[in-house]
Amino acid sequence: MPRLLDRLHDEIAALDAQSLRRRRQVAETACAPRQVLTLAGAPAPRAMLGFSSNDYLGLAAHPALAAAWAEGAALYGTGSGGSHLILGHSRAHAQLEERLAGWMAPFIPQAQALFFCTGYMANLAVLSALGGAEAVIFSEALNHASLIDGARLARARVERYPHCDIAALDAQLAACDAPVKLIVSDAVFSMDGHIAPVAALLALAERHDAWLVIDDAHGFGVLGATGRGVLEALGLRSERVVLVGTLGKAAGVAGAFVAAHRAVVDYLVQRARPYIFTTAAPPAVAHALLASLALIEGEEGAHRRALLQARIAQLRNGLHAVLPADGSAWLATSPTAIQPLIVGDNARAMRVMAQLDARGLRVGAIRPPTVPEGTARLRIALSASHTESDVARLVDAVGEALAHPVMEAA
Ligand SMILES: *Cc1c(COP(=O)(O)O)cnc(C)c1O
Repeated sequence: MPRLLDRLHDEIAALDAQSLRRRRQVAETACAPRQVLTLAGAPAPRAMLGFSSNDYLGLAAHPALAAAWAEGAALYGTGSGGSHLILGHSRAHAQLEERLAGWMAPFIPQAQALFFCTGYMANLAVLSALGGAEAVIFSEALNHASLIDGARLARARVERYPHCDIAALDAQLAACDAPVKLIVSDAVFSMDGHIAPVAALLALAERHDAWLVIDDAHGFGVLGATGRGVLEALGLRSERVVLVGTLGKAAGVAGAFVAAHRAVVDYLVQRARPYIFTTAAPPAVAHALLASLALIEGEEGAHRRALLQARIAQLRNGLHAVLPADGSAWLATSPTAIQPLIVGDNARAMRVMAQLDARGLRVGAIRPPTVPEGTARLRIALSASHTESDVARLVDAVGEALAHPVMEAA
């Protein structure tokens, strides 16, 4: 046994030596831009202004959702008591699925929706169920880890295609004679913020008789006039689309859904092991999500999306004015809440992050292998609940950190 423990200690020590060991912080207060956090090993909690949450609309601590959650618990209790196929499927789950199916009906003919505990599980379910042994999965190079793991779980062969390269994907599809093909892509790339060429992917899916699996984790709630996500934003409609939306980001609660033609959803209920062999999420979660959807599609949602857009524009204009003229740091082109500031090498990313930290600002530094070598970045994530002065503070601090780098004590 001690030898086994030694192996683990050695691996962790190696991560430490490369400054790659990840540490968690403890959030002492609800998710919000201003939050009290206790960092690993820190002597005391600190009040920070954060730019790294996925709570894009600022709904995660909304009183109406907390009230709906409490009401759901009063109605249905806390636990679902079983899997969806064995007693765990409550009226709240059914209502949520009906509601989501209605939301997606303009974009997917005969749409139905299936609720999952997490987006990770929804992606495992879709890819493992549709990607049988006779299938080939065409996976976008920058896909999220959950899609990569879903493809691993599938018995299908997996072919990666280069990032947003429609011509290359076209050629790969043309060279494939498998009876089932799946094109799989994030809708909004999580480390870059730009939107996938979903219309072109759909045209390829039609030409090559393939499914198009779109993971709209960062688009749902945010993109489109009523927040229904990338399909609404781009005005697309097809029975080939299998859409995964997550409900723990902009929707501010937890869980995920798959929306697709009813035949796909029927099939998933029969065959998707990550759906079948797990306890259904608490019904109160589904009950709270019904309230979240009402906010997202209503006036409040529209107002929050407009606020988010204003902060995105403010940040982009502000940073462009303070970035160094030598082009050594640059802002990636992104229309979404995810705004990556590329600074190049890892040490510079860590240094800027530390300088921001010293001023009470929390921004994630993302390094290879998560992003390509030489493109270490600060991943700034904005929310509708950031104020104008929050964003101004960040812009000032970033300009200052880039102009006057403080060398770390040796
Ligand atoms: C967050 C995320 C997921 C996973 O969703 P969870 O509900 O957090 O499990 C899947 N895909 C993408 C692109 C994500 O960003």
